[in-house]
Amino acid sequence: MRHLVKNIGTLAGILEDGSLRKEGTAMDAVGTLENAYLTIEDGKIAGYGPSEEMPDENAFDTVIDAGRGFVLPSFCDSHSHVVYAGSRDGEFLDKINGLSYEEIARRGGGILNSADLLHNTSEDELYRQSVERVREVMRMGTGALEIKSGYGLTTEDELKMLRVIRRIKENVPIIIKATFLGAHDVGRAYRGRQAEYVRLVCSEMIPAVAAEGLAEFVDVFCDQGFFTTEETAAIMEAGAKYGLRPKIHANELAVSGGVQVGVSHNALSVDHLERTTQAEIESLKGSGTMPTMLPGASFFLGMPYGAAKDYIKAGLGVALASDYNPGSSPSGNMRFVMALGCIKMKLTPNQALNACTLNTAYAMGISDMAGSVTKGKIANLLVTAPMNSLAFLPYSYQTPLIRKVIVKGDVL
Ligand SMILES: [Zn+2]
Repeated sequence: MRHLVKNIGTLAGILEDGSLRKEGTAMDAVGTLENAYLTIEDGKIAGYGPSEEMPDENAFDTVIDAGRGFVLPSFCDSHSHVVYAGSRDGEFLDKINGLSYEEIARRGGGILNSADLLHNTSEDELYRQSVERVREVMRMGTGALEIKSGYGLTTEDELKMLRVIRRIKENVPIIIKATFLGAHDVGRAYRGRQAEYVRLVCSEMIPAVAAEGLAEFVDVFCDQGFFTTEETAAIMEAGAKYGLRPKIHANELAVSGGVQVGVSHNALSVDHLERTTQAEIESLKGSGTMPTMLPGASFFLGMPYGAAKDYIKAGLGVALASDYNPGSSPSGNMRFVMALGCIKMKLTPNQALNACTLNTAYAMGISDMAGSVTKGKIANLLVTAPMNSLAFLPYSYQTPLIRKVIVKGDVL
């Protein structure tokens, strides 16, 4: 199938230098072309150029009119927990009344509450509820989504979650990546026996996940009250034996050492980073690890926002993801994440766009095929209403400006 996108006011996010991520001053650069067209063949971006040079419309199977709006790469969301059962709106009141994340967890809520619900939900029902959330974020412009397990916390329930992620991958057109997060918390049967639970993760869960080829990444909640840096290292090393690259939850609740242990184990990303010091920034320099911040969680929980500007000033890249999950970020709206990047973290709109597209694609290991307008990349694109500048998108953050979502050349 050949598609033509015509009448583009501004084509933005163009990148043809082969770079897989943007760091430091490069984060403020977004390639643009005014008055443009774009062609799509077999679901991939085939070409683009100025409107005067547009090929004959009759040579295409479909023609998409961009209506003078911006055409942008779809959002890539490199951190989500959208496979879960039910919701945690009951805890919403506890949060309103000021209980902390740790206090709610200690009362038997939090992750363990989600795990109990998931255990009592059939795989079919879990799929039905979860794919609905994926369709929701697709409509809001997410073209690639990472999904974690971690509400199972037993071997069988972790496998159940990962099989649901596989089924989602087979049934939706966007890119889906799966991460095994057995060490999201200590399973209920192992409370008080954390070392034994870590052994279960390493010697039973990881081999079982690998045997079915259910995940590409391994994750650990390396934070105060959860898993130590030593336990995190042991889990990453067990995952590495099966080719699972780490993506680590670190520094949400305290300066945990999670960034440093992640970098030393070649983590693809270290995520959260609400609480970091200069030492974390220093450890990331020269690494292949993408610092990833989750402003939706800061917004929902009233936590500090990650110091994204300091990372960029130090020459690093920054990625922004949704953390869509029932406890701390019940929204997967990446446009809102981009807006929070600007409003709360003081990123420029260009930096925020790169943080939500190319750099999150990098944090999912797919920036060679997604995250920018590049010939040969998958044609997952957004069409906006006409806007004077890219800044209008995060500025007018509630106006329904995304007019069309294109996935592999097809308009959703
Ligand atoms: Zn998370």
